[in-house]
Amino acid sequence: MSAADASEPTFEADDVDWPVLTLLRRYGADYAPFAVVGIVVQLLAYFPGQAIPAVVGFAFDAVLADERPFALPLVPDRWLPVTEAGQLYAIVAIFALLVVLSGVLKYVRGLAWGKFNYNFQHDVRTGTYDVAQRLEMGFFDDHRAGEIMSVLNNDVNEFEGIPGSGTFLYAAGFFLWAGGFMLVLHWQFATVIFAVMPIILVLSARFSVVIERAHDRIQQAVGELNARLQNNVSGISVIKANAAEEFESDRVERASRAHYRRKLDALKIRIGYQHANTLVSRAALLLTLGVGGYWVIVGPPGPYTAPLTPGLLVTFLLYSQQLGGPLGAIPGIVDEFTNARASAKRILGLQAAASPVPERADAIALEDPDGRVEYDGVTFGYRSADEPVLSDVSFEIEPGETVGIVGPTGAGKSTLVTLLLRFYDPDGGSIRLDGHDLRAYSIRDLRRSIGYVSQEPFLFAGTVRENLTYGLEDADDGAVREAAEVAGATTFVENLPDGYDTQIGERGVKLSGGQRQRLCLARAFLHDPSIMVLDEATSHVDNETEALIQRSIADVVEGRTTFTVAHRLSTVRDADRILVLDDGRVVQQGSHEELVARDGLYANLWNVQAGDVQSLPDAFLERVERRADRVLED
Ligand code: ADP
Repeated sequence: MSAADASEPTFEADDVDWPVLTLLRRYGADYAPFAVVGIVVQLLAYFPGQAIPAVVGFAFDAVLADERPFALPLVPDRWLPVTEAGQLYAIVAIFALLVVLSGVLKYVRGLAWGKFNYNFQHDVRTGTYDVAQRLEMGFFDDHRAGEIMSVLNNDVNEFEGIPGSGTFLYAAGFFLWAGGFMLVLHWQFATVIFAVMPIILVLSARFSVVIERAHDRIQQAVGELNARLQNNVSGISVIKANAAEEFESDRVERASRAHYRRKLDALKIRIGYQHANTLVSRAALLLTLGVGGYWVIVGPPGPYTAPLTPGLLVTFLLYSQQLGGPLGAIPGIVDEFTNARASAKRILGLQAAASPVPERADAIALEDPDGRVEYDGVTFGYRSADEPVLSDVSFEIEPGETVGIVGPTGAGKSTLVTLLLRFYDPDGGSIRLDGHDLRAYSIRDLRRSIGYVSQEPFLFAGTVRENLTYGLEDADDGAVREAAEVAGATTFVENLPDGYDTQIGERGVKLSGGQRQRLCLARAFLHDPSIMVLDEATSHVDNETEALIQRSIADVVEGRTTFTVAHRLSTVRDADRILVLDDGRVVQQGSHEELVARDGLYANLWNVQAGDVQSLPDAFLERVERRADRVLED
């Protein structure tokens, strides 16, 4: 897979017949009046520009050539000046008026479209984001961040307005007014000009197909080139170790050369089209001049009957000279629309890709739960895997108990605790909090009453304080400091250049893993939740610091139900109860002392961590080996 398509979204709404229209209806309906004003004013705005050739023709005939009496459509004759100088001034004044009118109309049009376009795009973006962030966690497991970002960014950007409408209105405005003027002024001569239109249209339609293919080929070459570069930069140590620089330079050179050739091909096509288009447009002009000139000098050719004045010929020449622009733009409308259609499908696909975590209409509000937690025959498997990760897990925790969860990697420890936050719902069995199934509670209340510190300490770009108070409306400095103190973060935070106001960089890159974990802990404490879930929350911290943090955590969690997932058994040594998980099942539970005294997985793990490998039973070692083999196979 190339780098270019590494982030291509894989979700598309294929069952929506009119994706663009669906988006317009969903997010643009509120702003429809702006669009209507935009369309009407835009069409009107082309009037002044297209009236100018007609006025020029009139001026020519009446003022300069004396071909016909001075008259203007819709204007009573008695309002018009009689002297030639007066008539000339009148024409100049009309010109000026048309220019001013055009300016005013374009301003109104710009404003109306701006209001529609920006509001519409804003609503598509925020609406899509809002739906996306509420989708169930499984959706985010199945799709890369890049895929989702590409929809929220690239695809939403296609919707700055009604796709294709700008070009469409430009062409429509031209044909409405120029075509209208030509038909009204001299319909017979107009048919001569209309005859060349299909040629220009076919030519530009053909061009747009060919150029699109050329652009696809360029895109492909860019993708291959990027993939190669990305690959090589990430694997630079392998290239160096194998002294493969020359080999790689050759490969990059070939990929870059292919890109160059395809760009040149596209350039040739574009230049060719420009020549062809100019040629056809000039031919149209020549035809107008030749046929029109004959018509003026000799009289109507062939089946035509109406005479033609030199002024009208000038008017028609001015119109036919502009013909290439709008006709050439028409195939672009199809292109723009096709792109927008694909984007709309992905946006709707993202919105429909998964359902939000279901919440009952009569969800119970939850404030300060006691913290009695029961897992009752819980079975759960991720959608992407066949095997269940948790099988028939049952246990009961009394309010205020501290529970340690231990077991080999992949046993399902993290999964077990994320079910409590309803990141996922169990496939079988149920989880109860204070006697009610989790699904009975308001999701917001449930999650707010749990302080969760995940395995991967994630911080946002911003200051230390912003990260600690994330999600809280108000938090005073004293509380922030206290939480930091408990998490063992005060000393290092105070040593940062700006203390709590230090910017910690994207994802907190300026901090060490252990420092990030301590901030995440402090963030959870600050929320003062009734239940704490600490998933390897101190795994990146050194042993000594961990011991210190454990001591202060013990005070904070006093009276709160606390789940601590830990790899180091020393972390959970003092827990009221320890659940030992293996292959998705609770295989042992009890206090540390009880478990060490019994033969079993816990005692074996304890011996491993104490470095006492000699006392491990053979069966345990065989299982460890089997597990290692399985991991290698995966
Ligand atoms: P532990 O915390 O005990 O190491 P986990 O709960 O993280 O175990 O994982 C249990 C099993 O579920 C593992 O086999 C892991 O590969 C799988 N798993 C974990 N998270 C996901 C996920 N988001 N999607 C699919 N499989 C997952």
